Amino acid sequence: MASNVMSVAERRRRERKKRVLSLILSLILPGLGQLVGRRIGIGIAALILDVCFVLFPLTMIRTVVIQNELTNLTWLIWLLWGVTFGLYYLLVAYDAYRGTWLHVAPCRRDCPAEINVSDYVALVAAGRYAEADELIREHAPLAAVLGRICPAPCEEVCTRTRIEEPVAIRALKRSATEHELPAVKFTLRHPQKVAVVGAGPSGLTCSYFLAKRGYSVDIFDHEDQPGGLLLVAIPCFRLPREALKRDIDFILSSSEGIRFTGGKVLGENIDLSELERSYDAVYLALGAAKPRPLMIEGEDLKGVLQGLVFLRDVCTNSSKYSFSGHVAVLGGGNTAIDSARTALRLGAKKVTVFYRRTREHMPAYPTDVAEAEKEGVRFEFLAAPLRFEGKEWVNKVCFARMRLRDHGKGRRSALESVEGREWVEEVEAVIVAVGQEPDLELMEHLGLPVDVDGRIKVNRNLRIPRRKLFAGGDAVRGPRTVVEAVADGRKAARAMDFFLRPRFLGRFFEKLGEFDPDFGLEKLGGAAWTEKKPVVKSRVKEQTNYKNPDFYVETMCGLTGESDQEEAKRCLRCQRYNIGFAYKRGKQKGYVSLDKRSS
Ligand SMILES: Cc1cc2nc3c(=O)[nH]c(=O)nc-3n(C[C@H](O)[C@H](O)[C@H](O)COP(=O)(O)OP(=O)(O)OC[C@H]3O[C@@H](n4cnc5c(N)ncnc54)[C@H](O)[C@@H]3O)c2cc1C
Ligand code: SF4
Repeated sequence: MASNVMSVAERRRRERKKRVLSLILSLILPGLGQLVGRRIGIGIAALILDVCFVLFPLTMIRTVVIQNELTNLTWLIWLLWGVTFGLYYLLVAYDAYRGTWLHVAPCRRDCPAEINVSDYVALVAAGRYAEADELIREHAPLAAVLGRICPAPCEEVCTRTRIEEPVAIRALKRSATEHELPAVKFTLRHPQKVAVVGAGPSGLTCSYFLAKRGYSVDIFDHEDQPGGLLLVAIPCFRLPREALKRDIDFILSSSEGIRFTGGKVLGENIDLSELERSYDAVYLALGAAKPRPLMIEGEDLKGVLQGLVFLRDVCTNSSKYSFSGHVAVLGGGNTAIDSARTALRLGAKKVTVFYRRTREHMPAYPTDVAEAEKEGVRFEFLAAPLRFEGKEWVNKVCFARMRLRDHGKGRRSALESVEGREWVEEVEAVIVAVGQEPDLELMEHLGLPVDVDGRIKVNRNLRIPRRKLFAGGDAVRGPRTVVEAVADGRKAARAMDFFLRPRFLGRFFEKLGEFDPDFGLEKLGGAAWTEKKPVVKSRVKEQTNYKNPDFYVETMCGLTGESDQEEAKRCLRCQRYNIGFAYKRGKQKGYVSLDKRSS
């Protein structure tokens, strides 16, 4: 990035100054404040109103003083004038500070981490990658990770889906992070110290935002390296370790106050009450990585592997596996799909995922299921394992055919086995991946309030009531996604800041100061948002690498060359132009309703 490009933080500072100046001028003359805020149309309208509001009492004075008519009606008119003028005055002053209320683009609204998608996509379109990266990391410091493995709820709601494929938001995030990292160095500003237990995405994000707010943070984890499931479960062909390391280094080097200590197990060699005594607040981001057993006959045979243990062994190189025959994978979630794809890369001739429900009910992300299929993984639905057979090693699995008793209830619909429809599969190994949960025993041992599924109970500020403890991520939500863990980390850091340094109306003032800087992106040639009727343009495809799958070679290769800018220009900038809403009603000036265009 050229050094003369202004950083996002600098832009934000300037924007804030401009808004404060507008606010002050608005208090003197509302229209003037709007004009200084470069809102010419509103400014002129407000000036006309200002004049009307001043002229009106002059005419009234004439009536009262010269004609000496002070009736009840005159009093009422004065009162109405006073109230209307007061309201108008406050509204225009507030508006000058906050700016016109813009609709939040659907992509941002549905992002758990509230990332400003529309602006970072536009910055990529303009080739301003460093600013795009900085903007993403303002909400999610694990940007390179999310650019690869986020399930991208934003893409599901992207306005483009109303006529064609969504903007490739996730791939664009990845593009933004593949350039120079933004340089951040936070200073320690407060004496309070925070302990974070668990260095997964939630714990790391919370530490980053605490450091940003000026606190010193000690991170403790059971593993020797930070990363949580990203490091020990998600395979390298989906998340290369260089990308993960880049993000983690970015977080750990963001402040002198962040320290990571590995090999510390809460409840064994560190004590929760000791942490509560030594630190001003504690964030628990312990995850939910305890594998659920199947509880069927033969589960203790050799060759029956737990999905998470298997992935951990392969990811950390702590055990070697190689297959040559048929590997059966039981389950329908991320762990099952990743285990199946890993088994294929370790030499298995045939890998089948057996799932007791249907494809639509699989908790795994549809894109990952599709990728697994492209690589050669087979799927057998409505199949439930009954028992494992073999002398010492497993060599057969007996299955029952299942039937859905009631359709339409999704994953909650009841199942029953079909009588006489049992069959046996010859296998070399079985990988059990039927779910995971928080460690209930540990939670109870620590004396934490938990629900029936072992998830830590917290209030809406992620705090355990009446204690210095906060919790988030999978430990609170159950097994979910990285972006939700990241969102919790950020939210917890903010809640801890207000807990450690209570301020009068602190949250209100913080919210009031949150607005997006103007990046001056509205005149970008060739971008969809600059055209009156944006053309229907197909999504640029990501490069893939399905042939010869290897554990260390990434399958999805992102948008190469300048294809990312081309793709980013498909964005409609719904946030600026209220397009998502206008399209719904077909009212946007100059735009044809997407509903009409698609018919
Ligand atoms: C195979 C697999 C694939 C996945 N794929 C995706 C994907 O593609 N996209 C996506 O968004 N999500 C995916 N997920 C889910 C995602 O990894 C989790 O939602 C996310 O990692 C949760 O973050 P967390 O910080 O809450 O917990 P974790 O990542 O589980 O981190 C918890 C940390 O706490 C530490 N810890 C636990 N107990 C203790 C203790 N007693 N003392 C000290 N430290 C402790 C652990 O060592 C760990 O480092 C996947 C999960 C799995 C298992
Ligand atoms: S078109 Fe752009 S702004 Fe609109 S929802 Fe899609 S990514 Fe977001």
